[in-house]
Amino acid sequence: MSDLRSLPSVDRLLADCGPLIQSYGRMAVTQAVRSQLVAIRATRPDPVPDAQEILIAVIKAMAAQARSRLRPVLNLTGTVLHTNLGRALLAESAIEAAVAAMRAPAALEFDLDDGGRGERDSHLRGLLCELTGAEDATVVNNNASAVLITLNTLAKGREAIVSRGELIEIGGAFRMPAIMEQAGCILREVGTTNRTHAKDYREAIGPETGLLMKVHTSNYRIEGFTKEVLASELAAIAHAAGLPMVNDLGSGTLVDLRRWGLSPEPTVAEAVAEGADVVTFSGDKLLGGPQAGFIVGKREIIAAINRNPLKRAVRMDKIRIAATEATLRLYRNPDCLAERLPTLRLLARTEAEIRAQAERLAPRVEAKLGCRVRVTPCASQIGSGALPTETIPSAGLALTPSPEALADRLRGLDTPIIGHIHDGELILDLRCLPSDQALLDALSA
Ligand SMILES: *Cc1c(COP(=O)(O)O)cnc(C)c1O
Repeated sequence: MSDLRSLPSVDRLLADCGPLIQSYGRMAVTQAVRSQLVAIRATRPDPVPDAQEILIAVIKAMAAQARSRLRPVLNLTGTVLHTNLGRALLAESAIEAAVAAMRAPAALEFDLDDGGRGERDSHLRGLLCELTGAEDATVVNNNASAVLITLNTLAKGREAIVSRGELIEIGGAFRMPAIMEQAGCILREVGTTNRTHAKDYREAIGPETGLLMKVHTSNYRIEGFTKEVLASELAAIAHAAGLPMVNDLGSGTLVDLRRWGLSPEPTVAEAVAEGADVVTFSGDKLLGGPQAGFIVGKREIIAAINRNPLKRAVRMDKIRIAATEATLRLYRNPDCLAERLPTLRLLARTEAEIRAQAERLAPRVEAKLGCRVRVTPCASQIGSGALPTETIPSAGLALTPSPEALADRLRGLDTPIIGHIHDGELILDLRCLPSDQALLDALSA
């Protein structure tokens, strides 16, 4: 039976905690000391730990508490734009711009030419119009807000016509029918899951119609006996009835991805040229910037969106405006894009390059982890609802035995390593590994 009478008092332990109290504050350290004592009284270990052992446990507990739960991880899942791991990594110029905007006051809503009041969107409007060919542009918190405020502005209390094949759920609570309801519109579904025709839209148009909408089916594909109405045709149908056509592109991209060996996703400029009155897309998907929602299109519609009281509720902050501006600027020089934009750089990495990296790392990882490691082909995904049915050939490491235990161990590191379990192996797809050293350092910590 352990003898708890030898347990030191809280005050006796705190007397040795000077430096800890200096770093973390008296209250937090006292709490940690108390919880250690409570745990010892509850579990009655034999022998009872002495003051030194308890202090070491307190130091460990304080260090664990100080470690952010939002700390950087190595994304070796094979999904480049992983929503749960924060999607796009920013370009260095975007990071610098964000830091500068945090450090000092910025002319966010201040006109440097005449000293009067400026507009926060003006920093991005010119670039967005130039890169998309749209008349005007505005920016909000994310693409979900972009869709919400667009629907609310154009079709509150009226019908929004959408194909049954495009009533997407993006994940969590973002489902098109639910967003329509929150925006105050009445969803008017037309067509069927696999086939929707021009006449389905035409016949649904009536006095209650507010807009026609096309939604990019970003995270699924309907294949087989299918028919959809192209955006250009839908725009013509809408305009013939004097109505606006909205195209929610989801990811959207500003450049033709074929240039980097990827399959094409619709570009925003194409969607604008097809006649959409409004196009909405995300900042942190294929575009490779911070979380943002872009709304580009006809001048009077953008002006109406900017007048909507919701705009203030979903506006972007200066840090992301600065980072977004720097990201968009990179698109003015597409030749250097893959060097400067991490998302594109990672997507464009070749299978051969990644396999060579896997061959180099396999023996070293085996030595560090003491498990079996073999090089394996992988199939990376873009993620965040871009080209959902396509994979990009890649390579990685397959770790055995006990993949679950290995996954737990790698997640517990100072820089957690996140892979995925497949067929009884822990797979680490190396596509998104920044360098050999990054993996070795993470494993050494
Ligand atoms: C991802 C996506 C959204 C939501 O965009 P967020 O930037 O995540 O808010 C909306 N519509 C479509 C079609 C999408 O793919």
